[in-house]
Amino acid sequence: MISGLLTIEVVRALYVISAVLFILTLGGLSNQETSRKGNAYGITAMTIAIVATVLGPQVTGNYIALLLLILIGGSIGLLLSKKVQMTEMPELVAILHSLVGLAAVLVGIVNFLNPTQEYLGVELTIHLIEIYIGIFIGMVTFAGSIIAFGKLSGKVSGNPLVLPAKHYLNLLMLISIIYFGTIFVGSSSIDEGLIALGFMLTISLFFGIHLVASIGGADMPVVVSMLNSYSGWAASATGFMLSNDLLIVVGALVGSSGAILSYIMCRAMNRSFISVIAGGFGTETSSTPVEGQDQGEVQAINIEEFKSMITSSKKIAIIPGYGMAVAQAQFVVNEIISILKNKNIEVIFVIHPVAGRMPGHMNVLLAEAQIPYDIVYEMDEVNDDFEKIDLSIVIGANDIVNPSALEDPNSPIAGMPVIECWRGTSTVVMKRGMSTGYAGVENPLFFKENTKMLFGDAKESLSQVLTLNN
Ligand code: NDP
Repeated sequence: MISGLLTIEVVRALYVISAVLFILTLGGLSNQETSRKGNAYGITAMTIAIVATVLGPQVTGNYIALLLLILIGGSIGLLLSKKVQMTEMPELVAILHSLVGLAAVLVGIVNFLNPTQEYLGVELTIHLIEIYIGIFIGMVTFAGSIIAFGKLSGKVSGNPLVLPAKHYLNLLMLISIIYFGTIFVGSSSIDEGLIALGFMLTISLFFGIHLVASIGGADMPVVVSMLNSYSGWAASATGFMLSNDLLIVVGALVGSSGAILSYIMCRAMNRSFISVIAGGFGTETSSTPVEGQDQGEVQAINIEEFKSMITSSKKIAIIPGYGMAVAQAQFVVNEIISILKNKNIEVIFVIHPVAGRMPGHMNVLLAEAQIPYDIVYEMDEVNDDFEKIDLSIVIGANDIVNPSALEDPNSPIAGMPVIECWRGTSTVVMKRGMSTGYAGVENPLFFKENTKMLFGDAKESLSQVLTLNN
């Protein structure tokens, strides 16, 4: 029996080291150049946390079973990480958030049925409140993440669900959850507590589903980062239930960094942070995406015309979007920029904060292809300078370069800042056809006089551009 191999003092010291490493992880991950180091800190911190917990005095169970579960969970994780395509990462992140929520629910229920410590009086009340809040946040995270997974993978419609009086419905559900909370905390028997929990779990399930289902299209990025934040708070609540300081700290780190990310995303999309938390903010404008309106003719070009546009440019801006991830075109793009460098053509990348399907998606792709960071710019840094850009190449992006966000107050993406490439001399949009982006909105950029369309898979088209070298 190796239970209690480490004393509580040693465990606490290891927890402090782990917590510091987790903070360094966040610092590292906030910058592309240090992100690998950040990841290494995170892996070390998590290893220390698991070893300290397992060998500490709190774990007294069957070690064989524990090891077996770690092996099974670890193998599933390894298999998934090998199998999941880069384009499926957003769905994977969403489903992983759901597991954090589910864990909080299960730990909460077990903790209620079989408390690790005996509590009396006020302490018991506080402990029951911790359990109740933990299970509530866990269930909302679980249900919301499942719907987010469905929306991101295209299994659930991306359109917002608009139920009548939806905000009142949310309010009613919240009031009922508080009501059952008072019954739960005042319950005199396990059975009474379980009945209150059962009602709360059912209502929270619908609450979580409704909260995410009522947000549609282009506003999903904020939901993804919000669920990230919720999963942190769920973990933190679990930490309170289990009196585990490290879990409280790490949960709070994830919760608050997720909340900060949501705030940044809201600012990037010109949305109100408070209305996100209330749910359904994406429906204030038009709830139905606009598709299929006749906007005129597009000007399609072929590879040869594209090549000559490139060679006659002095400064080129590349604007990547979700389609670049689908086509896996980032590596070809890297080869092209070195060819252009040799031809003394300046190339910059312009990144929109919500491009792709998860926060930082484009940065991940560019880092994967080892594109130098010093030529990668944020949207705000370039938007006012497009007059100086001869050619903008839009690779598989759509919503993030849609002028209707600025020009059409009834558009579902109205008010969202976009990359204003049409202000440059000319734009070439690379995509396979005329289909809309994630928000399901027609894009007037494609019909502008200074825009040309190069139809086809982005990687295939760009591979043909490589012959520029000859
Ligand atoms: P969009 O989804 O708006 O557009 C992607 C475009 O890529 C499509 O129009 C598609 O057109 C094209 N495409 C797909 N495959 C290929 C391919 N193989 N080759 C060439 N083109 C291809 O992406 P954006 O990045 O512009 O915008 C992101 C959208 O996703 C925003 O609405 C954002 O709000 C939303 N979102 C973002 C999240 C985030 O966290 N970043 C999370 C959830 C949603 P076609 O089929 O004609 O080729």
